[in-house]
Amino acid sequence: MTLPLLLATRNQGKIAELRTILAEVGLPQVEVLGVEDFPGLPEVAETGLSFAENALLKASSAATHCAAAGRPVLAVADDSGLAVEVLGGMPGIFSARWAGRHGDDTANLALLLDQLADVPAQHRQAAFVCAAVAVDPNGQQYSVQAQVEGQLAEKPLGINGFGYDPVFVPGEDTRTMAQLSPQEKNAISHRGRAFRALAEQLQQVWG
Ligand code: IMP
Repeated sequence: MTLPLLLATRNQGKIAELRTILAEVGLPQVEVLGVEDFPGLPEVAETGLSFAENALLKASSAATHCAAAGRPVLAVADDSGLAVEVLGGMPGIFSARWAGRHGDDTANLALLLDQLADVPAQHRQAAFVCAAVAVDPNGQQYSVQAQVEGQLAEKPLGINGFGYDPVFVPGEDTRTMAQLSPQEKNAISHRGRAFRALAEQLQQVWG
């Protein structure tokens, strides 16, 4: 494939992760660019009602903007968050601003722990969910969603990762996500799984 791939994020960690995954699934020739390579890319309000809708809004906006600017790309975007069973799937799409201020990880985590203070261990199931969407210059869409299931601890533990990682214990593990190495987290994470699934779809089209 000849189109460069634009990952519509300012997060360098996500860009590095996607590059590695594309190489693993047999698309090493794809050039992965970030938003800093496209000055003037519009900010997109995340007004969708699901992770998939928000990821699609971001990917479509980037694809349309780049095509109009004469630099067609395959635009990829992701949207993710924490779905807590006893809260009916919330914080969900509101994960980044659960305590009111966008990106205040400390306040978001503290509020969640307070809300679950009386919830016993057997009812603390949750999942990290990630939707990833690619849109090509013709408007063709590729969409996937993946998750990692786990339990919420009562107290934060660990210093790696971000967001709700210090209270999320994945699968059968006894450690929180924040106690895993970045490699261990990427191997099982919702985002790693979604990016791998999307890369495999793209590999079938362009590989
Ligand atoms: P984003 O869509 O990747 O920007 O994530 C939105 C919000 O979901 C973040 O601000 C975090 O609160 C939460 N979140 C998403 N992915 C993770 C993760 O891997 N660990 C911890 N929190 C996450």
